[in-house]
Amino acid sequence: MQFTENAVTAKDIQNAYDLIRPYIKSTPLIRAEKLEALFAGAEIYLKLENMQYTGSFKARGVANKMLSLSKEDLARGVTAASSGNHAQAVAFMASKLGTEAVIVMPENAPTAKVEGAIGYGAQVVLYGFTGEDRDYKCNELIEEYGYCLVHSHTDPLVIAGHATVISEIAEQIQGLTDGGLDEIVFPCGAGSLASGGALAAKSLMPNTRVTAVEPAAVPRFTQSMDAGQPVTVEMGQTFADGLRVSKAEPITYELIRDYVDNLITIEEDPIYRGVREAALRGKIVAEPSACVGLAAALDGQIDMSPGRKVCFVITGGNMDAQVLADILANRSS
Ligand SMILES: *Cc1c(COP(=O)(O)O)cnc(C)c1O
Repeated sequence: MQFTENAVTAKDIQNAYDLIRPYIKSTPLIRAEKLEALFAGAEIYLKLENMQYTGSFKARGVANKMLSLSKEDLARGVTAASSGNHAQAVAFMASKLGTEAVIVMPENAPTAKVEGAIGYGAQVVLYGFTGEDRDYKCNELIEEYGYCLVHSHTDPLVIAGHATVISEIAEQIQGLTDGGLDEIVFPCGAGSLASGGALAAKSLMPNTRVTAVEPAAVPRFTQSMDAGQPVTVEMGQTFADGLRVSKAEPITYELIRDYVDNLITIEEDPIYRGVREAALRGKIVAEPSACVGLAAALDGQIDMSPGRKVCFVITGGNMDAQVLADILANRSS
């Protein structure tokens, strides 16, 4: 492992944990025995960020960022570009902190996510399909109206905030099992969770192997590791709408390179199955992006051998009813 001076430190994550605690939920960490029946004997633990405020872990990083803004900056109002869950988190925190939020979302964003953001009081602008499209529109809004940017994945405060999911797991796991976790598995899109989460894991649970899973359709970090630098890949079709990010950024690239032990890609079919098994066996409503880790296990890419303790971060639970209905009825794959 290569250690460099990263833009986020373990201390930043501890500070974030202290700052955001009154604003976020400590979500359940549960053992999922019913899911264990699918595997060879590993113990499965699920960190249920689908039960976080706004239905995803995104509330954590956004809370850390927005609580760190000056009064003046906060009063200007905030803007963000988001495929969905970041939008809801920004809208939620803006309403908590009494400021205005204008969010740029893709034209193909799930209705549930758009309505979620509007429901928390944000104004939503639907624009384009890629992250670049959204950033362009966002910058236009900043120039015209002076809003403060809450970036979804390059801001060190956002990354440190997301990583508090590991601070919580490190505390909770002690009450559940002796000896800690053998492996922690993160879904990986833009990489803001996996990057800070991996750093936190290396600091708080040094014996735990860290795995990040990205869709084979958009393998930006796998290809970046091969290239030795952050790259942009073609935007393939993935059902995991929260992982539709074509570009790896330097800050997330470096943290993932330095702290993730195992970076893997997953095809679409196991993702559908992951959602179905999470719902029907695990009794958990988890969106496709949240199930790529479970999918990788179902696909035989995670060591699930007897006695291993493997934790999957269930990152969110926001999806359209029709999508869930199709998956449960086995009409999607
Ligand atoms: C944002 C998101 C991810 C991916 O997180 P990144 O930090 O972009 O890698 C995974 N699952 C859900 C539910 C998300 O909202």
